[in-house]
Amino acid sequence: HVSRPAEVEQTRKDLPIIMMEQEIMEAINYHPTVIISGKTGCGKTTQVPQFLYEAGFGSKQFSSRSGVIGITQPRRVAVLATAKRVAHELGVRLGQEVGFQVRYDKKIGENSAIKFMTDGILLREVKSDLLLRRYSVIILDEAHERSLNTDILIGMLTRSIKIRQEEYMRQQKFIQTGGTIASEKVISPLKLILMSATLRVEDFVSGQRLFPKPPPVIEVPTRQYSVTIHFSKRTDEVNYMGEAYKKVMSIHKKLPQGGILVFVTGQREVDNLCEKLRKSSKELVVQAARRDASEKKKLDDDGSFGGVDMKEIAEAFDDASNTQDYRFNSFGEDPSETGNVNYDDFDEEDMYESDEESDWETIEDDSLANSLVEDGKKFDALRAAFKALADKKGSESTEPTTSTEAEPEEEKKPFTPGKLRVLPLYAMLSPAAQLRVFEEVEEGERLVVVATNVAETSLTIPGIKYVVDTGRAKAKSFDIKTGMETYEVDWISQASASQRAGRAGRTGPGHCYRLYSSTVFSNTFEESSPPEITRVPVDGVVLLLKSMNIPKVENFPFPTPPEASSIKQAERCLKALEALDSDGRLTPLGKAMSDYPMSPRHSRMLLTVIQMLKEARDYSRANLVLGYAVASAAALSLQNPLIMQFEGENKNEYEDDKQRKKDRKDKIKAARDRFSNPSSDALTVAYVLHSFEAAENGVGFCESNGLHLKTMHEMSKLKDQLLRLVFSCCKSRRGEVMEKRGIVQNPALQQEEELLGEAICAGWADRVARKTRSTEYQACAVQEEPVFLHRWSSLINSAPELLVYSELLRTNKPYMHGATRVKPEWLDPKPYYSRELDRVFCWVVPSFGP
Ligand code: ADP
Ligand code: MG
Repeated sequence: HVSRPAEVEQTRKDLPIIMMEQEIMEAINYHPTVIISGKTGCGKTTQVPQFLYEAGFGSKQFSSRSGVIGITQPRRVAVLATAKRVAHELGVRLGQEVGFQVRYDKKIGENSAIKFMTDGILLREVKSDLLLRRYSVIILDEAHERSLNTDILIGMLTRSIKIRQEEYMRQQKFIQTGGTIASEKVISPLKLILMSATLRVEDFVSGQRLFPKPPPVIEVPTRQYSVTIHFSKRTDEVNYMGEAYKKVMSIHKKLPQGGILVFVTGQREVDNLCEKLRKSSKELVVQAARRDASEKKKLDDDGSFGGVDMKEIAEAFDDASNTQDYRFNSFGEDPSETGNVNYDDFDEEDMYESDEESDWETIEDDSLANSLVEDGKKFDALRAAFKALADKKGSESTEPTTSTEAEPEEEKKPFTPGKLRVLPLYAMLSPAAQLRVFEEVEEGERLVVVATNVAETSLTIPGIKYVVDTGRAKAKSFDIKTGMETYEVDWISQASASQRAGRAGRTGPGHCYRLYSSTVFSNTFEESSPPEITRVPVDGVVLLLKSMNIPKVENFPFPTPPEASSIKQAERCLKALEALDSDGRLTPLGKAMSDYPMSPRHSRMLLTVIQMLKEARDYSRANLVLGYAVASAAALSLQNPLIMQFEGENKNEYEDDKQRKKDRKDKIKAARDRFSNPSSDALTVAYVLHSFEAAENGVGFCESNGLHLKTMHEMSKLKDQLLRLVFSCCKSRRGEVMEKRGIVQNPALQQEEELLGEAICAGWADRVARKTRSTEYQACAVQEEPVFLHRWSSLINSAPELLVYSELLRTNKPYMHGATRVKPEWLDPKPYYSRELDRVFCWVVPSFGP
């Protein structure tokens, strides 16, 4: 039984998906797999779990449905926000009927019927139980995003369903022939629901790779309000941030209330733009206050404007949509702005006109065409009415261009833009700060959310009426062969652009301003972005599949298979880490590695440390070493907190930010000097991490050292998680578990440092580089060009002959990050030779003891 708060019942009624409850539940009852597609905001994520819950899924009362309802999200931020929302809608506390789990955080109880989680969490669970016995339904949300984990899960779950069905049939037969099965062993079929914000589900339904019978696709019709798309006439290739700023301000100054959502590419851009907008907002408020004071007495008290009674027109068009109101406003109020307000940083043209003179062409997106035609008709009617009314009023002018001359300015009521409530939104923001976008906006304030593409689909921010789309996103791209990474700002896909635009039409008709031309959109934008699996290294995937007894990775039912070369590269890497033997079979070491919730490299390193400690049989300082190993693994899993500009140079910095940045740079520089371990970047960061944990005040510690708080928190949580794992692996040492907060000293003994170095070397064995001169190196994986130590690496002064690096990132040059000095003898006599890597040097990897 469900009792929702009254306010929830009310808003729920308006969600398009509510009408579809019966159809959806019927499809789920009759088919093992169902695909639900519906535009973002139609209610998929929050409502489908509730439909299932109300139908008895997740309830102990129905044995066939007693398993938990599991919902995955590709992003952590969406897990937290939606779980909270659904708990609220059901009128329960988070952690009771509705729980969630993400990598470092969970709130879930014995009685939770609905579990929100990241796709990564479910993937770990499938690994330990392919049948997913705890669940009755799995919903893979945002399947259209084609995240690596969700794609793998789709392939896995097709198997889970099949095996569970077979198991179920077997049990039923057994029961029919008089057998009995303990109730906790009884199995029911598993339901799989794929949810997608687009209709691009081809890869899921076509062919018989995934499903023998194509699953039904239920489309949720959305009464999405019309979103008018405005393309820029010109595309500013460089200064899109400046354009974005101008556009936000001009919307704010000219257009009626409604939130603005701006898409930019990265955290720094978000922060810069937020800062700049806040400043401008303050200036505006001051300006307005001044103007108000001087004009107050002179204002007409009957509220009429330019001789035309605005109210009268509005009443005549009671049913007018908001869009019309805007047009009406800009038509009627613009003249009042000219002359008495200094709006020099926005274009004077009517933003809604598809006027040749204008910078903006308003074009009709296929899906929007109809509503636009409707809009257009209404607009014409409104304009005619406006004219007629004005004529009736007689002499007063309605011509914008002449009105300034005809009347004294003081008599016109200026359009007064209020304060901006500017909020950032990006993945690395603290969860509390992320959730602020859902808070109510104060009367007279306008919400501006400056976001990276995290806001593209997974979060629906209330009250957004305007979208400003720079058309760019920053993506890490890999060269699969060399492992070289680049952060590139690139055009988004047409599909992404339409997702972004859609965010404007949730609560009423909206507008999307694209800071690029329609030509660029049609000629340069890809139709949709390629699935993640085709873009990233797949060593983790290959190890996972092999550990799940899928030896021939090529045969796995991927929705889109990775390139053969990419699989080959992954196998080469896993062989270097000795997770696979020379025939590509999983080794015992590989099996152990796959049990750690991290990349094969990190688990290889940790296992090596454990093994070496065991061999050394000197446990006197084992805890310290293990603590450092775990901290180094955590350090190498996340962004280096001592490197501020990890993303590469940003050309769009604003002047006024410079001092703040310089201060932070100085602090980081001092921190680097203070914590530096000249043999390893990983050990340096591990030291920082220990000091952070030992500090009385972690926030203050980060502040005074210029470190990123959220990164440090995550690193600390990851370290704790790894520690628990490590100690569960070597139980005998448990009694000596170190005082976590006790270790602040650098690993004092050289042999300890070397042990750690050797272990790191084992994990990054295929990323060895040899010095050629100064800070220039030749990496075994990169034949074509030299690679370099980064000037902020703690090895920059020592520049050892031989090193391993964890990342190769191309900014202006290919820079090695996460470097650790390596001794030649750590490179085991067992030669590892690769033809493709072409003989520059025959290099070797250390071996893992029996
Ligand atoms: P979909 O998954 O189809 O994109 P959702 O179920 O996420 O849609 O959203 C449905 C409605 O619930 C939207 O109107 C959205 O604004 C609202 N909503 C979702 N999450 C939250 C939240 N955390 N707080 C407030 N409202 C929310
Ligand atoms: Mg959703």
